[in-house]
Amino acid sequence: MATEAAVDVPKDGSWPALRERAFAAMAHAYAPYSGFRVGAALMGSDGSIAEGCNVENASYPAGMCAERGAIAAAVARGMHEFTAIVIATEAEVPTPPCGICRQVLMEFAPQLLVLSVTRSGAEAQWSMPDLLPHAFTPTSLGAHAASKRRRTECM
Ligand code: ZN
Repeated sequence: MATEAAVDVPKDGSWPALRERAFAAMAHAYAPYSGFRVGAALMGSDGSIAEGCNVENASYPAGMCAERGAIAAAVARGMHEFTAIVIATEAEVPTPPCGICRQVLMEFAPQLLVLSVTRSGAEAQWSMPDLLPHAFTPTSLGAHAASKRRRTECM
């Protein structure tokens, strides 16, 4: 096990369920260009799980990562708080979220536990502060933007 940081396993023992759902999502990945399939399973603070997989596109920048797909699926279900995410790949070495996904995950879950697993059984764990120190967060926008944000959350 290639643990890079000490991160507690979720107290409800959800890692096995999250692993299973992440690998199931990975099986649906649309990655005809890279061949690099990724699945993600995100645990909401209420214990519910939302999945995502990478979805590539012939116009490469239009592609979407599994982690952001999971966030989008979760938000569409009204989930805004998360405790853990499992990222599943077929790589030899566990892969952390890309920079864009780190930013998106930080928006909703600054204390998120991140577990990356591979088909071969390798894994690595991080926390969001490990992955994105000195993050740009909603508070970085200042008081005015924060009040606008609260208004849109009520819509
Ligand atoms: Zn990404």
